[in-house]
Amino acid sequence: MATERTSLFIFFGGTGDLAYRKLYPSMFNLYKKGTLREHFGVIGTSREKLTDQQFQENVLKSLDVAKTDKEAQKFVSHFVYEAHDVTDKAHYQVLKKRADELDKTYKLNGNRIFYLSLAPSFFGTVAGYLKTEGLTDTEGFDRVVIEKPFGRDYDSAQQLNDALSKSFEEKQIFRIDHYLGKEMIQNIEAVRFGNTIVESLWNNRYIDNIQVTLSEKLGVEERASYYDNSGALRDMVQNHIMQIVNLLAMEQPVSFTDVDIRAEKVKALRSLRVYNVAEASTNFVRGQYGAGDSQRAYRDEDNVPHDSNNDTFVAGKLLFDNYRWSGTPFYIRTGKMLADKFTRVDVVFKKPLIDIFSFPQNQNAPLEANVLTMYIEPHAGFTLRLNAKTNGQGFQTEPINLDYFVDAKDSKATPEPYERLIHDVMKGDGTNFSSWQEVSYAWRFVDQIRKVWDLQKPQFPNYTPGSMGPAAADELIQRDHRQWVYRLNK
Ligand code: NAD
Repeated sequence: MATERTSLFIFFGGTGDLAYRKLYPSMFNLYKKGTLREHFGVIGTSREKLTDQQFQENVLKSLDVAKTDKEAQKFVSHFVYEAHDVTDKAHYQVLKKRADELDKTYKLNGNRIFYLSLAPSFFGTVAGYLKTEGLTDTEGFDRVVIEKPFGRDYDSAQQLNDALSKSFEEKQIFRIDHYLGKEMIQNIEAVRFGNTIVESLWNNRYIDNIQVTLSEKLGVEERASYYDNSGALRDMVQNHIMQIVNLLAMEQPVSFTDVDIRAEKVKALRSLRVYNVAEASTNFVRGQYGAGDSQRAYRDEDNVPHDSNNDTFVAGKLLFDNYRWSGTPFYIRTGKMLADKFTRVDVVFKKPLIDIFSFPQNQNAPLEANVLTMYIEPHAGFTLRLNAKTNGQGFQTEPINLDYFVDAKDSKATPEPYERLIHDVMKGDGTNFSSWQEVSYAWRFVDQIRKVWDLQKPQFPNYTPGSMGPAAADELIQRDHRQWVYRLNK
């Protein structure tokens, strides 16, 4: 049985899609494992009018269990509901009274987690009232969890952070980037810092380039009105991709704690080259999907303006000006309506300086580069591509793969990112959350690209659904005499 953790949770936006689809099922998993047992209570709040019982029934439905499941019934009995408009100051007193009652009933020691699963425009208001109306005046811990997006550029992110900082200290703020809760993302640190053969080669002497691909097969679905104001650069690069790149680029932390890991991540980000106009134009490309055989063009999707210049695809080259990475680029790409749904990292090593096997009479193909591929999702695992001798007479080489994949049984037992992240918040461990400094450096980098794009009119649409993005994304890497490791029609 896991160690029991004690806390009250208040979910703002507690009847939203995220709460029902991810948050409550993740909490139920923690309940089944014993992290949550007797000493927890939940208040769901939103504008909807519901009784406690109706709310409990809704939560029960979200759990994917039979209505009669005794364990689930016991779990939802800890949930209560308060209809509440977050802008209504007076209502925080009602919430406080309810919180104090649950604190007493379940002996919660005044520990409180405020989960803001709401539109970001409300974050500052809620945080302010939590403080001024006394919900944080308890003996125990107070922590606030913030969903993405954290701002839409550096200035708005800073305003948001200033508003939060009036009520909460940095160590009390948990900014969710659910990619950091993924098993294989956490494995990046294990593989790098747990293996001499990896970490000793992890630099510009031995690594030619690193490629990060977050490929989505779907289009905008019902998120069009949000997405059209965001685009792939803001929605995927500023947060998820920058976090992955950062875990790949940072130096070894002094210890495996949130404070030391964050310090190294920030140090790496400080050496990320922030592009000027010319560099941004050369090193980043954007795309928008057109129509496919049975697919509408992005501009014809519901709730998307017909003249939208929003980016549904981004590819770029990132450069770290530091001793470890100078001269070794990180290529990234992400987009919607691509060939497949997957996330992977390809670490391409330099080829041997001299290929002693390619003498003319041997007619051997030149040696291929070693590649360490980390498959993040949907299947978690690694492949290391090495060159080996082909079986039989003569001396020819061929690339072979050493593979490891998480098997189906282990994969089923892998905690959902939200389960892991909620657990981390209860422990007070900020390792897998974005610190303000990380967020601010990432925005400063991304803002430069955005600024340049805002000045230029793109030629959209420029890629077809089912491809791997516009031709310009291939040209970006080919210009450096390289190829994407994952490509179609190899
Ligand atoms: P949603 O629209 O489904 O739910 C929003 C909730 O906020 C509802 O419960 C609504 O009643 C409540 N609400 C709105 N205005 C309110 C007010 N004035 N006072 C009180 N309650 C109010 O949204 P969602 O999809 O659950 O997303 C919530 C947050 O999580 C957003 O910031 C979103 O960007 C982020 N997010 C969502 C997902 C997802 O998969 N849904 C993924 C990543 C991030």
